[in-house]
Amino acid sequence: MNPVALPCIVVRVISADLPEILACPACDARPKVVLENDRLTCTECGRRYPIRNGIPVMLVEDAEWPQGKQGPQPAHDQGQGGSK
Ligand SMILES: [Zn+2]
Repeated sequence: MNPVALPCIVVRVISADLPEILACPACDARPKVVLENDRLTCTECGRRYPIRNGIPVMLVEDAEWPQGKQGPQPAHDQGQGGSK
């Protein structure tokens, strides 16, 4: 009777090593993201991806832009003093 080796499922938690295997889905070059203040920041475009329940959410629509930087997304800017 041989003992049956059960498959070992290793659950990885968020760590400093994790961002190295993650890439920004918004950039064609798929640059890696770095862990900053519990968020994953893209080294290319600067988008910040949140980490929920220890799981990095690599969704472009959920990404945030750092303050002072706006991306190409349509912003609700109105009231630009247009002068003729
Ligand atoms: Zn990016």
